[in-house]
Amino acid sequence: MRHNNISVFIPHLGCPHQCSFCDQNTITGVAHAPTAEEVEQLFFDAAQKLKGDPQETEAAFFGGSFTAIPKEYMCSLLEIGKRAVNQYGWKGIRISTRPDAVPEETLLLLKEYGVTSIELGAQSMDDRVLEINERGHTAEDVRKASRRIRKHGFELGLQMMVGLYGETRDTALMTAKEIGALCPDTVRVYPVVVLRGTKLDRWRREGIYTPMTLEEGVPICGEILEYFFEQGIPVIKFGLHASKEVEENITGGIYHPALRELCESEIYLKNARQKISAEKLEGSAKPVTFLVNEKEISKFIGQKRKNMKRLEALLGCPCKVRGKKELQVYRVELEY
Ligand code: SF4
Repeated sequence: MRHNNISVFIPHLGCPHQCSFCDQNTITGVAHAPTAEEVEQLFFDAAQKLKGDPQETEAAFFGGSFTAIPKEYMCSLLEIGKRAVNQYGWKGIRISTRPDAVPEETLLLLKEYGVTSIELGAQSMDDRVLEINERGHTAEDVRKASRRIRKHGFELGLQMMVGLYGETRDTALMTAKEIGALCPDTVRVYPVVVLRGTKLDRWRREGIYTPMTLEEGVPICGEILEYFFEQGIPVIKFGLHASKEVEENITGGIYHPALRELCESEIYLKNARQKISAEKLEGSAKPVTFLVNEKEISKFIGQKRKNMKRLEALLGCPCKVRGKKELQVYRVELEY
């Protein structure tokens, strides 16, 4: 069943400072905090147009540090959200916030308003990376907040980034594993896109920070996607939403309009190479047919047949790919 978020973006309100990577106005395309009336109208309009199951729909407050905005404003928005949930038969309210902004009393308040899901911007589980990117919280804050959220029966979502200042392949993979160990219901992965006007952009210009390139980021992100898949944790969002605002303001980082597909192709290339190596087929010139899940063939082939060309070079002869219905996603078998 397809999940729907009726999203309201609350840019920058409640942020105690400015994280190195963040420019919420560009990311969300929203420059001002919406009034309660605007939110009410947005929910009303969305309910009229909704095509999916209302029970799979959530009123969502995203974009800033929702639980750190002025309490009166937060409660006025939650009240509108609660009313919309009751009126339109939606599943509940989803919010996103910082790991250091969900104390016990806030969680109790969120419960009263019918919040069902809480997403935390963990971003990294490496304290050094968190510190130099000026997040203002630690990895332990993420662990504690996640446990508290679970204890109160909310659905837990965790967000991580890849390629922040000071990040390496090892810190990115460690972050994914630590996040997996917290058993979130959902994960969002944001490979870093350096946006004009952010601190990362300034550090890039000053030569302090060298952003991860697309070529460097794709294999790491592929490993992370595969890891969450194996853990049974859905990655509900991968990469920034491609928009004109974002594209006009990118100055570096891991960005491609079809990033997820690129990373998934890389997983297939890695797994196909492992098969070739396990069977000692390098340079054997033996015709090989790769078997993958039938819905995944185009990802296996890669953009502009990139994977096929690389595999053919490795084998020393042309190769083919065929669909096999029962194969699990990312799994590769050989037929020769
Ligand atoms: S990442 Fe979140 S906490 Fe940091 S400045 Fe942006 S909205 Fe605020």
